[in-house]
Amino acid sequence: MAMAAVRAAAAAGGPASLSRFRGALVAAVLGDCVGGEFEGAEEVPMESVLQHLNGLDDETKGEGILEYSDDTAMARCVVQSLLTRTGFDEQDMARRFAKEYSASPGRGYGSGVIQVLKKLSSPQLSDVYQPARDQFNGRGSFGNGGAMRAAPFALAFPDLADVKRFARRGAMLTHSCSLGYNGAVLQALAVHLSLQGALDLPQQFISRLITEMEEVEEDEAARNDARILKEAEMPFSDRLHRVRDLMDRSKVSIEEVISELGNGIAALHSVPTAIFCVLHCLQPRKCLPENYSGLERTIAYSLALGGDTDTIACMAGAIAGAHYGIEAVPQSWMRCCEGAQDADINAERLHMLYHQSSQGGASGTGGQSHEFRNENRSNSSNGTEKNSEAV
Ligand SMILES: [Mg+2]
Repeated sequence: MAMAAVRAAAAAGGPASLSRFRGALVAAVLGDCVGGEFEGAEEVPMESVLQHLNGLDDETKGEGILEYSDDTAMARCVVQSLLTRTGFDEQDMARRFAKEYSASPGRGYGSGVIQVLKKLSSPQLSDVYQPARDQFNGRGSFGNGGAMRAAPFALAFPDLADVKRFARRGAMLTHSCSLGYNGAVLQALAVHLSLQGALDLPQQFISRLITEMEEVEEDEAARNDARILKEAEMPFSDRLHRVRDLMDRSKVSIEEVISELGNGIAALHSVPTAIFCVLHCLQPRKCLPENYSGLERTIAYSLALGGDTDTIACMAGAIAGAHYGIEAVPQSWMRCCEGAQDADINAERLHMLYHQSSQGGASGTGGQSHEFRNENRSNSSNGTEKNSEAV
């Protein structure tokens, strides 16, 4: 490991340190907020990215000028639910998604998920998973909407099996196709491992993700979906092998990354891409300023890929933030991004829950959970319409 990487890892503290929690949750918000500028763009010159990011240093600009989108809006619901219920409670989480959407519908939700969120708001609904199952003639969505809000599961549960199980169930509230919810499992796994310091050894990190996802994709439903959608037998594992191949190359162009991994709204075309962005930016890169921290490099590089930039930068931000910690987050970015301060406060609460859980505190069924004493801030706010499609 290069000296810069050693210093960065030391700054973040030991495994599951508070700095890593704050870095993960805050950087996810920053990725979402700064990524909105380029969402849907086919080509994004790096100069435009750097210009956009340098503009955040302008002190004359107001606080929270970059608004967050559906990625953060839904992640906030996940966080509030996990904290309030001290564990996973699908009824509560579904209610929060529906309420958040109706309070602030202009956050760039895709048309597919809007139908699900409207159905979730019905008081007559008995099975909260049914609306998602009914999507797309019963096939369910394979978009990245479950993955974009998966990071908090890794910050609430210390146990790997819980992270996988609850990230999956949390995603299934809107994305019932395995190519959707397994993207959420992968994203949560990547944050979990990063939180433990696993990115200090990048080759082992990617190998571990491949092993875990091969186990996840053994599932009959996953194999069936892959067959129907004409994807590789184990689609996410296959993509992670491609990530490893790209890591091994001395030079890789942005065009190659897009053609090998994708930059779209399908979970399969964005979660492995976000993981690659983090791995690729562990080292300084010629196309990026020397004074950038690894976290700044990761977010800048994610934006330069174009496509679903807010979600890819949000997911890459969470994984990178868990590695570098809050010290790597520029204050000016934090000031400009709506919701960053709230994320910082909530990260501290999740850190407490996580460490309580490691002593047997949190559970997976809402009915048996304790109420968490401090209800967090209101998560309603206004936003402007963005034209993203979340499948
Ligand atoms: Mg979005």
